[in-house]
Amino acid sequence: MLHMKRSLVLFSICFAMAGTVAVTHADSQWSIVIHGGAGVIDRASLTKEQDASYRAALERALDAGAAVLEANGSSLDAVQAAIASMEDDALFNAGRGAVYTSEGRNELDAAIMDGRTLNAGAVAGVTRTRHPILLARKVMERSPHVMLVGPGADAFSFEQRLEQVDPAWFYTERRWRALEEYLEEHKLPIPPKPIGASANAAIDALVHDEGKYGTVGAVAVDVHGNLAAGTSTGGTTGKRWGRVGDSPIIGAGTYASNDSCAVSATGAGEYFIRLTVAREICALVEYKKMALQAAADEVIHKRLTALGGDGGIIAVAPDGQMAWSFNTKGMYRARVTKGKAPEVAIYKEERR
Ligand code: ASP
Repeated sequence: MLHMKRSLVLFSICFAMAGTVAVTHADSQWSIVIHGGAGVIDRASLTKEQDASYRAALERALDAGAAVLEANGSSLDAVQAAIASMEDDALFNAGRGAVYTSEGRNELDAAIMDGRTLNAGAVAGVTRTRHPILLARKVMERSPHVMLVGPGADAFSFEQRLEQVDPAWFYTERRWRALEEYLEEHKLPIPPKPIGASANAAIDALVHDEGKYGTVGAVAVDVHGNLAAGTSTGGTTGKRWGRVGDSPIIGAGTYASNDSCAVSATGAGEYFIRLTVAREICALVEYKKMALQAAADEVIHKRLTALGGDGGIIAVAPDGQMAWSFNTKGMYRARVTKGKAPEVAIYKEERR
């Protein structure tokens, strides 16, 4: 009898615990924030059509990430889905639509970080991978390393059977013209266009030259409370000598830790690297117990601005706090939390 009673009590406790877990998951919030670059982006410089296309592209990417989170998927998968969507969109300087090096090549950088384990993967200077963010993920999960560069990264991508594309896939006339202007200004020779490059007038009419920075990124917290961050970019127009910016550097343009926050940056990479912007924001949250928005503003509006750098970041914390901060005229950005209406914004004066 006593034995039966004890079993009953144990069963009730287990049932109650299982119930608690189930309730917690069902009630758990998820949040995702994305960006498509910062820069000279104001109402005067965008046509109505450009404004509408950028908002639609941000919405598509946000939906891709939110769908993963809504289905109780991981923040890593959500970040990857949102970024892959923007890599395929020629409006952004990542994947298709990436900017050109002085030699007329697309050299793509990307990174992803798992806030639960602090695992990370990054690639720099890859030339044939359709979705560099997927390659960063493979580096994290299928190699003993954190960062691969150049031909080695291309070879790893091929080995991992990621989709390979002809370099002409990344081509947009707008970005090529931006290169020509850069080279003329710097009195450098203009290289031949990539073989097979063809203009697409419809796309070229919509791509806005944001004045250097058009990187894409995403940060998310999933229903399990796990954070992730990812960033993907073509870098800066006219870059030379194997230049790599902040985007694939863990702690500079990309960082995630469940103990503090997840950050993805866009802007003048040389400044973000020296300030370790992403990690710095998370350190302020972790050690100074600052609110996420305050920590982001401290680093962007004080430290980055004081050093002469421009750009911005998006961030998310384990409790669902979301933030964005930038010292440029605008930043393509969007965010959503479970059960709330999504926000999409471009210009500085749009509501926080
Ligand atoms: N941060 C990137 C880099 O320096 C550029 C960008 O944000 O568009 O490579």
